[in-house]
Amino acid sequence: MEERRTRAHAPARRNTRQRQMVLDEVRSRCDHPTAEQIYEAVRARDPRVSQATVYRNLHLLAQEGQILSIKAPGVEHFDLRRDVHPHMVCVRCGSVVDVPLAADDPKLDASVSAKTGWQVLDHQLIFRGVCPACAAAEAAGEKDESPRQ
Ligand SMILES: [Zn+2]
Ligand SMILES: [Zn+2]
Repeated sequence: MEERRTRAHAPARRNTRQRQMVLDEVRSRCDHPTAEQIYEAVRARDPRVSQATVYRNLHLLAQEGQILSIKAPGVEHFDLRRDVHPHMVCVRCGSVVDVPLAADDPKLDASVSAKTGWQVLDHQLIFRGVCPACAAAEAAGEKDESPRQ
């Protein structure tokens, strides 16, 4: 499995290090960060890392199944959890949380496959709603329009 290239040595090692930084960052947080948030965090550690590098590595890691990509409407989030599990997205602040509901029933994919004739690879379940913090803020300050970030 080990691949050693004597000439392209340095770039290969740098790629590995950058990918590890991206992976570490995703695994260090459980708030389902966006690519932008991961880029900000990685750049804080190493200003030489470009946004394109971070985005490319995120998608490579997701392809390899090392992290999960959640394609919520309009934005993509990344997840350290790799098992299929449902998510809930706040339509106000965009926060994403895991839903404590079993959705990785393998029979679901099989039954959809049987009904449609499609070969099902996987599925994602996303609930949209308003998180408790946003609901409380709305209830408390209907007239207060100050944006909270
Ligand atoms: Zn919210
Ligand atoms: Zn999750």
